[in-house]
Amino acid sequence: MGPEFIQDFSALYGEPEKLSPLVTRVLCKNPSPFTYTGTGTYLVGEHSLAIIDPGPDMPEHGEAILAAAGERPITHILVTHSHIDHSPLSAWLAERTGAKIYAFGAHGAGRKGGLAGEDVEAGADWSFKPDVLLEDGEIIDGGEWTMVAHHTPGHTANHLCFHLKEENVLFVGDHIMGWATTVIAPPDGDMQQYLDSLRKVVDLGVDKLYPTHGPSVDNPDKFVRAVITHRRMREGQIVNLLQEGPMTIADMVERMYREVNKALHPAAARSVLAHLISLVEDGRVTCEGDATLHATYSLP
Ligand SMILES: [Zn+2]
Repeated sequence: MGPEFIQDFSALYGEPEKLSPLVTRVLCKNPSPFTYTGTGTYLVGEHSLAIIDPGPDMPEHGEAILAAAGERPITHILVTHSHIDHSPLSAWLAERTGAKIYAFGAHGAGRKGGLAGEDVEAGADWSFKPDVLLEDGEIIDGGEWTMVAHHTPGHTANHLCFHLKEENVLFVGDHIMGWATTVIAPPDGDMQQYLDSLRKVVDLGVDKLYPTHGPSVDNPDKFVRAVITHRRMREGQIVNLLQEGPMTIADMVERMYREVNKALHPAAARSVLAHLISLVEDGRVTCEGDATLHATYSLP
């Protein structure tokens, strides 16, 4: 069984939506096949605020965040990862509020294989500059709220999730999405790390997940376990396909993602590549030369 994705999410763009005593969301009008209905920016706090993932470079969304904050000062800007639908507006917001930007690091920070091959990566925010670098497990004390940063590489090498202790909820960025599977695109994405980071979330035992895109996930344990199973199933599918003989990633995507919108096939190809890199590392699949998008793969 795969995860039960919820796809009936809707909200008014630019309007604050109060989700709990400490959490409010403002949805940015940047819908796309990757962002679903758009980037959900979270405001955390009652009297002074942390902003999680300000969003893309759209000042009108920044104005909506400031309007939602009203008289309350914004003291912290927390960024889950350096993708163009999450981090670019942080500089704009920092300039207007004086708040510091907290993140794991610039784009590529924490990556295993260095920065080679980056030219193929769409969506990276190379201009992202955090003021404060967070380590795994670091606590951010906002006075009336307490956040713990958890390093969760996989979607990107620098991905963080933020655990709001007072409500025992986790802001998961793109690590887990309620409406679809997360894109794992090498070289910044890493499937092995992704699965480890999913288990990390299960171990936290939180009551709710707040992804950047789509609705909250109210049954985290069951949901995240289903995501892990789904990834294992994809891995099994790849190995099964290769029993028919050597194959390229394009052949596999055609067959594995038949029901998926064609516009998402290039992203699916990178996800299959992520699985293959991990399978090749484990010696379960072989390929001539490096495991790349255009290599031919076979069983050993
Ligand atoms: Zn992302």
